[in-house]
Amino acid sequence: MCARKALLLVDVQNDFCPNGALAVPEGDSIISILNQYIQKFSQNSFPVFASRDWHPVTTHHFKEFGGSWPAHCVENTRGAAFHPSLDLPENIIVFSKGMREGQDGYSAFEGVDDQGICLFDLLKQQDVEEIFIGGLATDYCVKASCLDAVKQGLKVYLLIDGIKGVNIHPDDSKEAIDEMVDRGVELLCFEECVFS
Ligand SMILES: [Zn+2]
Repeated sequence: MCARKALLLVDVQNDFCPNGALAVPEGDSIISILNQYIQKFSQNSFPVFASRDWHPVTTHHFKEFGGSWPAHCVENTRGAAFHPSLDLPENIIVFSKGMREGQDGYSAFEGVDDQGICLFDLLKQQDVEEIFIGGLATDYCVKASCLDAVKQGLKVYLLIDGIKGVNIHPDDSKEAIDEMVDRGVELLCFEECVFS
């Protein structure tokens, strides 16, 4: 039997796209290919999951309160909503993260769904062995999610055409990808994503 697969879309939220509070350069340029991945996984009856930053107004994650980032993805704001062009399936399960004051929540594996179930438990319940990860941003939440997935014993594919990085330092994304590959993450583009 072939291993059960799942797609994880990391933080494709308005605030991480152009004009957002913490915009990733060209962050919205990956959405059309992510929509193709969503379609492919849905057609094959593989589950699709999405993570989102879902911060309180006051959190040490934000610069104003001693953290690293301008305020972004504050719960229930437009900035925290998924980008309107992202075609999420109706049965999408969303994992919210960074919800507690002082919790950065870089990794989707720190998130919980609306029942309070964490991503890893749900993957286990659904017998998922291989996870395909894309979204924003390569050098932060995508990287943290991929490395956590590896730690959990999953086979991890990074969707190389479905990610964008912040690149505070110009090579940040490249170094993040190198580190992921070193830890066993496999790189994959849409043309190579074939389910038989
Ligand atoms: Zn955040």
